[in-house]
Amino acid sequence: MTTSFKDFVKLCKRLEATSSINGKTLLITSFLSKLENREWKPFVMLISGKAVPESLEGGLGIGYSMVKKALDLNIKPLFSFSHPSIKEVYETLFKIAGIKGGGSKTKKIEALASLFSRLSNEEKNWIVKIIFSELRIGVEEGIILNALAKATGFPSDSIRRVYMLRGELDNLVDVILSRNVDLKKIHPQIFKPLKPMLATPASCIQEAFNMIGEDEVAVEVKYDGARLQIHMKNDEIKFFSRRLSDVTKSLPDLEKVIRDNLFHKIIHETIMEGEVIAIDEEGKPLPFQDLMKRFGRIKNIEETVNKIPVRLYLFDILYLNNRLLIDFPYKERYDILQDTVTNKLLADRIITGKIDVAKAFYRKALREGHEGVMIKNLNGPYILGSRGKYWIKVKSSEHIDLVVVAAEWGHGRRRKWLSDYYLAVYDTDNKSYEVVGKTFKGLTDEEFQYMTDKLLNIVVKDEGYRVWVRPEIVVEVAFNEIQRSSKYESGLALRLARVVRIREDKSPTEIETLKELRKLYEKQFKFKGKL
Ligand code: ATP
Repeated sequence: MTTSFKDFVKLCKRLEATSSINGKTLLITSFLSKLENREWKPFVMLISGKAVPESLEGGLGIGYSMVKKALDLNIKPLFSFSHPSIKEVYETLFKIAGIKGGGSKTKKIEALASLFSRLSNEEKNWIVKIIFSELRIGVEEGIILNALAKATGFPSDSIRRVYMLRGELDNLVDVILSRNVDLKKIHPQIFKPLKPMLATPASCIQEAFNMIGEDEVAVEVKYDGARLQIHMKNDEIKFFSRRLSDVTKSLPDLEKVIRDNLFHKIIHETIMEGEVIAIDEEGKPLPFQDLMKRFGRIKNIEETVNKIPVRLYLFDILYLNNRLLIDFPYKERYDILQDTVTNKLLADRIITGKIDVAKAFYRKALREGHEGVMIKNLNGPYILGSRGKYWIKVKSSEHIDLVVVAAEWGHGRRRKWLSDYYLAVYDTDNKSYEVVGKTFKGLTDEEFQYMTDKLLNIVVKDEGYRVWVRPEIVVEVAFNEIQRSSKYESGLALRLARVVRIREDKSPTEIETLKELRKLYEKQFKFKGKL
């Protein structure tokens, strides 16, 4: 007997009502221990709020209006009311994701309506939350990993490492349920993306040097494009985005570039990392928005390939022919990378211990139209999924990622667009999004149109002049100063905020937190007076 979705909903409600992390972990552990092995994956995915894995090409492919139509259809079950199991719900959503081609929208709506027909209103509500990644029961990944460790008896460190190596919870469950597995020996799987290492920001080169604290560092150009994880097995190449989705189809031109620049004719297996940027005819970097016109798109590829050429800059290698390289120091990984691909594909860099030399390199990078530099610890390992002190980024102005929670219709020329955006940080204490500013600056007409279309699909409350939306669209925002505010409940407001770009490659879970913004506020007084 497989476990009913009803029990899943009961668990969700208990988790929602439990505030302690320990309590939540115990609830999930005990639920897991009652499940059959084949139910683990569906359960773990759904309780983490995911209808399908992130890397699934095209995702679930269900929008707000489709859910509404499926609910409105209100079809009666064919036979007597049979209540679905957790496994059936997950598998049905997976099947819906797989419906492609002509008439797929209608077929998806029908399949969803048929699933809804077997559920109570309350249960439908929970599925809708999962579809829109809004489960909000306070179950972070860490809790799930700890519960999996407790339920299996594996050390939580090993579980975490395997998770980072295999990138997604469903892959992790496959590993830990396989017989006689030795977690220490787990390697990445080609074509299953790993959790990427991230960088910590510094306000200037001097600060970055201090943070690294070594005699010499590598200073690399920080390219303003999209991160790419490149997986290669024999003759096949796949590309994954920062959020681990498969973007291979949008970059057919890069495959040839990589093959042409490999030193060895036969590379059995490798995983490399780099940044892809859009370039103009002279090879100068184009703005990030131009890259987004083709990155991750699957329609009219041929056309965009010619219109928007791209260039790849590799900066790391994580795996080569059965050798896992993440624990090697960066300088050794880089040597291996240099032995694998020609210099033409490598990120521009210098190695220096002199701040003046690093500053000159930084200024040159900015003059050439790049975003800044990455200062890297030559001895640093590659720590999967972590924002540590081995990579420090220095950019020309302060940028943070925020989520749009509401928008107003513009005036005059902007009348036809939702173009004044309410920008919010995430308050980890109250589990809420808090507004810290409003802006209509920074976007092109084309982007206003794009935002308007997107926002209208996620409206939760329409007030006429203003709409409130689900917190889904992440934007990178530049600002001049953080001020105290009595207007916003967050207590802070950004002065002269402007949208630098729409971050389709980021999810709302990755935005700035209120705590981080408060720290940035305090940091301003390092060079300024405070009344
Ligand atoms: P940002 O918002 O600054 O682009 P992020 O939040 O997306 O950063 P971070 O880890 O904070 O991610 O910044 C590092 C990002 O910079 C990497 O994810 C990568 O996409 C990009 N990048 C560009 N050039 C390099 C480089 N030489 N080495 C490493 N990362 C680079």
